[in-house]
Amino acid sequence: MLPPFLYATANEAPVYESILNNRASKLINKIQSGTYVTITAEEGDFYKVITAGPNGWMRKTDLADTMGIKIFYLDVGQGDGVLIEVGNLRILVDSGPSVNMHNYLTKWQYTYLLNKGQQVHIDYVFVSHFDADHYKGLIAVLNDKRFTFGTVYHAGILKFAEKNNPYNTGLGDTIQHDGVEYLTKIFDNLLRTNEAAAFNRDIANFMDVVKKAAVENRLGKTKRLAAGDTAISKTIENKKFTIDILGPFTEKIGGRHRFIYWHDEGKTINGHSLVLKITFGARTFLFGGDLNTASELYLLQQYGNANPFMVDVAKSCHHGSSDFTEVFMQQVNPFATVISSGDNESFSHPRADAIGCAGKYARGNRPLVYSTELARSVSKSKILFGMINLRCNGNDIYMNQMKETNRPADMWDAYTLPRTV
Ligand SMILES: [Zn+2]
Repeated sequence: MLPPFLYATANEAPVYESILNNRASKLINKIQSGTYVTITAEEGDFYKVITAGPNGWMRKTDLADTMGIKIFYLDVGQGDGVLIEVGNLRILVDSGPSVNMHNYLTKWQYTYLLNKGQQVHIDYVFVSHFDADHYKGLIAVLNDKRFTFGTVYHAGILKFAEKNNPYNTGLGDTIQHDGVEYLTKIFDNLLRTNEAAAFNRDIANFMDVVKKAAVENRLGKTKRLAAGDTAISKTIENKKFTIDILGPFTEKIGGRHRFIYWHDEGKTINGHSLVLKITFGARTFLFGGDLNTASELYLLQQYGNANPFMVDVAKSCHHGSSDFTEVFMQQVNPFATVISSGDNESFSHPRADAIGCAGKYARGNRPLVYSTELARSVSKSKILFGMINLRCNGNDIYMNQMKETNRPADMWDAYTLPRTV
């Protein structure tokens, strides 16, 4: 009996137009590892397949019933937006400042399911921190009744309207303890906050949308995460899948959790971003939000001699800003770095020193540095969704971006990362 569907195991797995006497002829398509294909027939060593591109025949040895993990680093403009699929789970890590993520989810990735009238469930949403370029794009996704959500995780610092803020920082009051300044307000369950009137307009809008989705039974719960938490721990395809939280740290003062305040609203919010370390099988991935110099040094100090930051692939912190430390980059020491930034912005992200150091402090002789703003893909002169694609079966990591071409058989600019150095 034919399997109804399978996944490509090889990266750039070839799809052929036809077969004759168990031999393939004419390469017409190449698909990424982990790509779903529908099986419609078999002949000898080949299956006939339906793909999102041209259909044809694939070698049975290039297909399997396991998908691995797929990480989609979407070009959301100036901001971060990442979709992760692993097993049956769908996970968002931030969603950029505007509608790119919603467009991508509804007009590309899940169009097939949505057209069939199915609701799409996002199991986990991580908001690294409450800056618009990370959370504001979620509003459109949360507002779309065709989507349901499990848990929304966040770092716990919200922004207030300036008129309610005596320190004019937008962060509410601070307290002093042993000569160090700390924030007084930390939020745990966003569904139970009743201070919407005091929040700035975008945050208030976000909170309303979260609460509305919960009232409509489309959203389960919200929860603040901090260093030491494990957000997800599962076995998927017989491999370990975990999301461990490496930051932010709180300090207990007077029996309550407090965040250190770095005398600057932006730096404090950025510096207390959720820092996610994702493990799938033997490989690891870091998402460090918008960490900066002060927070990197603070995190390194908290961990002392331990280095939990070393991973195979890192998303560059703060869109490739210059506000980073070499010592933190040395600890992360990835084979590949993905910088998520926009074309049309005034910060000049990614900065030249951030790009240089991403290469300098990487592992391997030929480290990879990606930029979402360069990952533009075109089709018949129309710009599609820019994307850095990561595929991993637990051992091998493939990174692919689309070439600016229309030929499916020559579509991928593909790399396989080293397993060790
Ligand atoms: Zn940002």
